[in-house]
Amino acid sequence: MSAEELSFRDRPINMDAKGSRKWVYAKKPSGKWYTRRTIFGWFILLFLVAVPWIKINDNPLILLDITNRKFIIFGAIFWAQDTFILALLMLSFVLFIVLFTVTFGRIWCGWACPQTIFLEMVFRKIEYLIEGDYKKQHKLNNSPWTTEKILKKTTKHIVFMVISIAMTNVFLMWFIGSEGWLKLISEPIKENLTGFIIMMVISGVFYWIYSYFREQICTMVCPYGRMQGVLLDSNSIVVSYDYKRGEPRGAKNSGDCIDCHQCVSVCPTGIDIRNGTQLECINCTACIDQCNKIMHITKKPPGLIRYASEKGIKEGHASVWNARNRAYSVVLLIIFSFFVYTLVSRPVIETTILRTPGLLYQENDDNTISNVYNIKIVNKTHEEMPLEIRLLSQEGKIQMAGNSMTIKDQDRFESTFILYIPRDELKSDKTEVEFGIFSNDELIETYKATFVSP
Ligand code: SF4
Ligand code: SF4
Repeated sequence: MSAEELSFRDRPINMDAKGSRKWVYAKKPSGKWYTRRTIFGWFILLFLVAVPWIKINDNPLILLDITNRKFIIFGAIFWAQDTFILALLMLSFVLFIVLFTVTFGRIWCGWACPQTIFLEMVFRKIEYLIEGDYKKQHKLNNSPWTTEKILKKTTKHIVFMVISIAMTNVFLMWFIGSEGWLKLISEPIKENLTGFIIMMVISGVFYWIYSYFREQICTMVCPYGRMQGVLLDSNSIVVSYDYKRGEPRGAKNSGDCIDCHQCVSVCPTGIDIRNGTQLECINCTACIDQCNKIMHITKKPPGLIRYASEKGIKEGHASVWNARNRAYSVVLLIIFSFFVYTLVSRPVIETTILRTPGLLYQENDDNTISNVYNIKIVNKTHEEMPLEIRLLSQEGKIQMAGNSMTIKDQDRFESTFILYIPRDELKSDKTEVEFGIFSNDELIETYKATFVSP
């Protein structure tokens, strides 16, 4: 390529020669791929909103309760003790995304990323509805402040703000659950002033992103977007321009591309896909639809811009498999299998017993020594469990604070108990003791701790 042809790489596409922001006015997309993306996008939006309200065994489908270090993912509860299993799940997810990127390019960005879905399927649609298509938007922005302009801009920004606040509330529900959210909004604001201020700040950030910052999240901020250079290769299936068919371009030339620039005008990131795969392309498919319309008018076959690999276009083959994505698939399968194994084989309860900090021992009149312990038990089953703690390693007596040790399903129990051991059972100042956790006389788990004495 000549230096002139490569000039599109000189600066970000949405920046002018002086370094100022160049607003992208994207033509309203329509066509087969856009309809598919709209249906999929609405499904994802419905999923995001519905998740906190869908219950499995009285628990939300997904809950990311960071405060209590309790995470629920599709009904499976993960506590702080399950960090390893959770890390395996996250690793599988990241590898899944990497594998898909290697094979299918930025399919995530165009179809499933919340940023694209909110911008393209919610905010931009509202903008088209209020301000009209791209040319009308351009004209409106450059026109003086008439009553019509004030009315349209005010309506748009109020709707954007309301949606941003709604989005913040939906995301909050993912962290505190729908009940927690209902409780929060029913309480007076002054009782949760800090939380309220944080929510308004987050809403403000959402509003700023979707009303002003927009596609720059994908082109300048998102780390995943910036990793495309290392993830994609010539076998990756991405939205591509078939240069073999299209060139030489122009109405009077023999290639199928008539150089109408429709694929550029519809692009939400403002790029020209005919320059090849670019970091800014989020694989939104809008240019495929737009070019297919032109091909229909010029009576040429569709697919001048289509999902294809660079190698596929060059050599005319369509296989998506290569050594790299096969290797990723094997690693992904191994890690995911290990995750499933650790999930199904994890103990039904998880016990932690530690001597109460700051307390040593007590010498009692009945010739026993006592230590105080803190006990935490997590019930990972979907059943209520009556539990009992017994000393297994030697003779001794346990006195619980409180009577019942019945733990509700998927719940946590915390208490204190005193362990009394006869003096003659203790051979040194530090003795290892072993506890057994029983349910209905069946030993469920054992736990070792230290007992201190004079
Ligand atoms: S829409 Fe199709 S024909 Fe028009 S410039 Fe783009 S690639 Fe060429
Ligand atoms: S080049 Fe095409 S697929 Fe890529 S972002 Fe622009 S319109 Fe979407």
